[in-house]
Amino acid sequence: MNKPLPVTQPFLPPLEEFIPYLQQIWDSRWLTNGGRFHQELEAALAEYLGVKHLCLFNNGTVALVTALQCLRITGEVVTTPYSFVATAHSVLWNNLRPVFVDIDPRTFNLDPARIEPAITPATTAIMPVHCYGTPCDVDAIQRIADIYGLRVIYDAAHAFAVRRKGVSILEYGDLSVLSFHATKVFNTFEGGAIICPDAKTKQRVDYLKNFGFADEVTVVAPGINGKMNEVQSAFGLLQLRYVDEAIAHRLRIDARYREGLSGVSGIEIPQPLEDVSHNGSYFPVLVGPGYPLSRDALYDKLKTHGILARRYFYPLISDMPMYRGLPSATRENLPVAQRVAQQVLCLPIFSDLSESDQSRIIELVRGA
Ligand SMILES: *Cc1c(COP(=O)(O)O)cnc(C)c1O
Repeated sequence: MNKPLPVTQPFLPPLEEFIPYLQQIWDSRWLTNGGRFHQELEAALAEYLGVKHLCLFNNGTVALVTALQCLRITGEVVTTPYSFVATAHSVLWNNLRPVFVDIDPRTFNLDPARIEPAITPATTAIMPVHCYGTPCDVDAIQRIADIYGLRVIYDAAHAFAVRRKGVSILEYGDLSVLSFHATKVFNTFEGGAIICPDAKTKQRVDYLKNFGFADEVTVVAPGINGKMNEVQSAFGLLQLRYVDEAIAHRLRIDARYREGLSGVSGIEIPQPLEDVSHNGSYFPVLVGPGYPLSRDALYDKLKTHGILARRYFYPLISDMPMYRGLPSATRENLPVAQRVAQQVLCLPIFSDLSESDQSRIIELVRGA
């Protein structure tokens, strides 16, 4: 049998194009700490994404932890159970308490109508996720944040290059956090970034990601080591030249799935929102009771045929041992997230997915 087909695969530019970057790093002997490529990538990404201030990080999780530190969040943070574990872990790493709120059945994002009832005197922030790159209801969330005086930190790990009405989705909230992990649309092997609204905030984040050093002898905060190195930064610069092509390719695969799987009874394909430019980061479907197989049986069937679909996001974060004791983690509090976690299956989507492999996946899902 052929090599198993993963749910995603990193896009890699031609190796020979990376060699000159490595040569420059070797020549300069400058390996990290805000070198030339780090500076260039911050500027290039800010321009590409259409944001004013961006701070690179060595990964998205450290960026999330630092974003909460930066705003001095205390007490409780309202967040979603339907995400990658790093979202809630970053809250725990700051000694804060996550408060889980159910998701919207259409977007799989925090349901704004459920945020208000979850707010207590201890609440200081909301941490929503633009799940699969679908924008949250940023206007409704900001309205609630303004009324209650809360900060909003978006986990935008899936939302690279996503725009709504022509504006970057990363411009909303107090801070947004990206991940450039190998599995994401744009990657630097490992990496991440915080999008800041102004130069002052960027300055503070820059201190925090470098142990709190403001200059050689002044430490202004208990910072962390969140710096992206020169090899990663250089790779990002090269990768950025190809990212439009990679996203366009993903969107063609997205369109082919929609066509090939339309009308399959029991398979629900979430509809894209209006006025949103998508990035094709994931292709989730819901396997409902009308389908001849359960979600797990379809997952197993695809696996038998060498196709590694993934149950993102199952289990829910709120069902994991370090969270399930929280009052907000009960099944009754999170009925939509529970159902979606039981039904969701993410199908393979990446630039190098061949048309014939995709047809095989479509046939397997159709012909159950
Ligand atoms: C990938 C991801 C992260 C973590 O990013 P890393 O760069 O792997 O640390 C955080 N949140 C979500 C929703 C993610 O998908």
